[in-house]
Amino acid sequence: MDELQKNTTNRILVVDDDALLIGEYVRCLGEDFEPPSATTTLGDLEKVLFGEETDERGAARFEVHSRNQGEAAVAAVRDAISTDQPYSIVFLDIRMPPGIDGIETSKRIREIDANINIVVVTGSLSVDPDNLGKQIPPADKIFFFKKPFHAVECRQLAAALCGKWHADLALRSANEELERRVEERTAALQQLAYFDPVTRLPNQLLLLDKLSGLIEKGEEAEGDTAVVLIDIDRFSFINETMGYESGTELLRSIGNRLSRTYRDEAEGAKGIVGRFGADEFAVLMTGIASEDDIHELAASVKRVVEEPFLIHGRDLFLKASIGVAWHPVHGRDAKSVFRCAEAALHRSMRNLEKSVTYYHSEMRYRARSKFDLEAELRGAIESGQITTWYQPQQSTVSGELAGVEALARWIRPDGSLVPPSDFIPLSEEMGISDVLFETIMRSVCADVTTWREAGSWEIPVSVNLSAHQLRNQDLVGMIKDILVDAAVDRELINLELTETVLLEDLTIAQPALHDLAAFGVGIHIDDFGTGYSSLSYLAQLPVQSLKIDQSFIAQLSDSRANTRVVEAIVALGKAMGLDVIAEGVETDQQYAIVRRLGCDLVQGYFIAKPMPAAQLRPWCVGHVDTLSIKKGSTIIDIDDARG
Ligand code: C2E
Ligand code: MG
Ligand code: MG
Repeated sequence: MDELQKNTTNRILVVDDDALLIGEYVRCLGEDFEPPSATTTLGDLEKVLFGEETDERGAARFEVHSRNQGEAAVAAVRDAISTDQPYSIVFLDIRMPPGIDGIETSKRIREIDANINIVVVTGSLSVDPDNLGKQIPPADKIFFFKKPFHAVECRQLAAALCGKWHADLALRSANEELERRVEERTAALQQLAYFDPVTRLPNQLLLLDKLSGLIEKGEEAEGDTAVVLIDIDRFSFINETMGYESGTELLRSIGNRLSRTYRDEAEGAKGIVGRFGADEFAVLMTGIASEDDIHELAASVKRVVEEPFLIHGRDLFLKASIGVAWHPVHGRDAKSVFRCAEAALHRSMRNLEKSVTYYHSEMRYRARSKFDLEAELRGAIESGQITTWYQPQQSTVSGELAGVEALARWIRPDGSLVPPSDFIPLSEEMGISDVLFETIMRSVCADVTTWREAGSWEIPVSVNLSAHQLRNQDLVGMIKDILVDAAVDRELINLELTETVLLEDLTIAQPALHDLAAFGVGIHIDDFGTGYSSLSYLAQLPVQSLKIDQSFIAQLSDSRANTRVVEAIVALGKAMGLDVIAEGVETDQQYAIVRRLGCDLVQGYFIAKPMPAAQLRPWCVGHVDTLSIKKGSTIIDIDDARG
């Protein structure tokens, strides 16, 4: 726009070795030019084209400069460009001995000034007017003019070309403005694509990019590059109880604090802080000299996040799970290192202490690309690598085998065993937990049928349900169909749900569970005592049993304090008419205590470890041989049974 205002003058350069002709140009383009009356339209044209730029008579104002040689003309154009006063038009004679001719002059002028309108003026037909555009492009800025010309003709041409020159200029400015806006918009989109809008920190995509950059630089420089991933424990709980705004504020504060602490250059190491996921952050650090430094970094990140945050007048104390991996030890490229750090983070999140986990190779299959793993897990389900093992549950009163818990096992073709705590959360992330559940349910039904047919066994089986399943509207229908198809007594099937799963969405869980209970399936609460909220929900659900979480059993000893929680849960269960199951009983001492405290059933390594279906009957024969497994049969004493 500035350029447009600056160049309102119509500057014209005339080049001819004939001084008389130059005089003619000056006369007809000059201020005193009086158009013959027959050409009044010229004034109108000039008025239309130039508006304000015309004089009081309506005539355009031209500023005419002249040269009598080609080289001098080229120099004049160069001067004009360098002083930012470009010419709109150059009228160029073709033959100007002894210097360069008009064509050569045009070429040189065009190299200097891309916008000037060049008018080649000739009396002879030595020039092919049609070809000029090709010779000296662009074709819309080169013109042919025959002499001798009429004064009005010349002035008309000058007026029209000056008008065109201004229009071109305006168009160029508009295009530049457009380009500028496109650039601005692109930058804004990039900001959106690469930065998290809440914390204004780099997002996962940019972090990946940055890590690639750091790794490249690190390969020349000294030291490793570490990825520290941080997950805020129970962030959704804060969101729900304190409100979404507090949650957002907290995320911002965490981001700010991490940035302040790690983003600046410190002793040669340079950190990058980003938001990795909903409640996950990342610190990337390069130039790390030793493994001790990595341990120190991870510990300091944990400390920094666990310092209290003041959010809306309240002090919040957070727990953070930390996962760490580093280049080049755990991966040669950014993606692999991130995957390893993620695998380590997931390990930390599953552990109650919310500690720091450093990647190690056992997590390898977890760290491979999700795509590979998904394919592998799907393949495993299809090819029957997922099987069901059973862990006995024994009655403390009768010593009977009172039931079994079905536990999924992934046995790889090479015989290696993937624990369910690794592949079940994975199946949920991938959205194939329903397929997995169906597989387990069907294999449980097949085993129950085999036991019934082989020896009139009727053993209650508890099947675990995970968080995602309850959200599946087809769950209830699917369970009913499977049981009806397999002709399995529905009373033999119990579903185990963890307390947290139930609490996550009681409104969804409630109708589904009532429906299932009405159908005849039992509902048990797993890992009871680890959930956080009130117990009132228990009364709203058709629950039959509580399974005390293993962590309480593990702490049992004769000291009164340690038995209190179990005692309280048993009392609560009894008050509500529920059976209480003690899980994770490993020693005779623990067994004696839970029995004394009134737990109805026990499950744990003290009784038996989970085993394949085919081993269950032989195990029973060996361990509870006087026991008839048929429900409600002989009551025996556990001590006799264990012999
Ligand atoms: P859970 O339902 O609480 O299962 C009990 C876990 O404790 C089992 O681990 C079992 O092997 C283990 N355990 C039993 N007795 C003892 C003991 O005396 N000491 C110790 N230290 N551990 C004992 P497992 O089989 O590794 O399963 C882990 C978790 O994975 C299960 O916890 C359950 O939440 C989940 N899971 C297993 N199978 C399935 C399944 O088919 N579907 C779903 N959704 N989850 C499953
Ligand atoms: Mg269970
Ligand atoms: Mg459990």
